Amino acid sequence: MSSSEVRGPSDRKTATGAGSPGKRIPLAEPTIGGNAARYLAECLETNYVSSVGPFVERFEREFAAFVGTRHAVACASGTAALHLAFHTLDIGPGDEVLVPSLTFVASANPIRYLGGIPVLVDSEASTLDIDPGLVVDELDRRARLGRRQPAAIEVVHLVGQPATIGPILAAAERHGVPVVEDASEALGASWQDRDDGRQVGSAGRIGCFSFNGNKLITTGGGGMLVTDDAALAQRARHLSTQARLSGRAYDHDEVGYNYRLSNLAAALGVAQLEQLPDLLAGRRRVAAAYDAALARIAGILPARRPTGTDPSFWLYTAHLAADGAPRDRVLDVLGAAGIDARPIWTPLHRMTLYADAPRLGGDVAESIFRNAVSLPSSSSLTASDQERVIEALERALRTG
Ligand SMILES: *Cc1c(COP(=O)(O)O)cnc(C)c1O
Repeated sequence: MSSSEVRGPSDRKTATGAGSPGKRIPLAEPTIGGNAARYLAECLETNYVSSVGPFVERFEREFAAFVGTRHAVACASGTAALHLAFHTLDIGPGDEVLVPSLTFVASANPIRYLGGIPVLVDSEASTLDIDPGLVVDELDRRARLGRRQPAAIEVVHLVGQPATIGPILAAAERHGVPVVEDASEALGASWQDRDDGRQVGSAGRIGCFSFNGNKLITTGGGGMLVTDDAALAQRARHLSTQARLSGRAYDHDEVGYNYRLSNLAAALGVAQLEQLPDLLAGRRRVAAAYDAALARIAGILPARRPTGTDPSFWLYTAHLAADGAPRDRVLDVLGAAGIDARPIWTPLHRMTLYADAPRLGGDVAESIFRNAVSLPSSSSLTASDQERVIEALERALRTG
């Protein structure tokens, strides 16, 4: 780690130093280095700290180039990007949107902001993501019955694993339903079997990303909306800046939001984007080491790697054998050893907030939820810290 790199808060909690047995191993901490300090200093020197400034446009341009879309709109958070996505698609009161039940609550909340109705769809076991069969059947069924189609389909690429999007895109096209990708957890993941390695976020009508502190790259807090559609991008940008019309007068033509990313945050984003290839390589190195170690341990299965996809492994997520040690006991043993591991998201249908939401499918999400454990996955995880995780895991499974 170079001297210019800023360590995460988890390092400050302990004074015992790197490599010592007492140091807490975080689930996912940022790796901030490269030109970050230089670009941030540039903002301060030039007084461009707010949402007007050269780094915002540069971040958008370079991000769009990486993901492979024509346009990118920098936002204050991933949640804001999703809100703008559904707003620009004119999701309104009573409109249904198909959403996987197994996801972070921020995938669904922006639909509710607009008065829409999330329809919670079960998962596909191999990807952990929305089950394409259920989506295709639902669209075809509605067409057959002459029922109104959902206003959108939201595909979430959980923990860095690209969803099986091909059949969903085909059915969506057939029935005229737009697809929004929530790629908040999957920057840098791609489909090897689509267009020579298409990046997640670039396959649907709109893609959304998050740069929250624990995501693969961070701007302290931020997000990005990407699309090939110039009109959608322009509307999203307009809405993100209070829908103010150009000209001297303060005139506005819509109820907009203050959702623009600051130049300070974008400066950090440009630097993080330069680091992205290294950060992805780090994630994949960590994943390969877990794959090899877990293959030798009874009672746990390595992260699933469906063919045709190149996951980013934002969180390396393993699966406990259904008849083995209970998940919470394993997490407790790891926690006591100073290791931050965690369960996957609680399915939305189990939450008080979404308990009454309409649902499609069975209990695959439930069984993933019961058995999945995300292990420390930072790109900066050292081999000796990873060894500690693996040893603790073996101990947890033996005593489980
Ligand atoms: C992190 C995350 C978000 C929200 O991103 P923020 O930048 O924290 O608002 C949305 N969806 C998923 C799946 C996420 O993991």
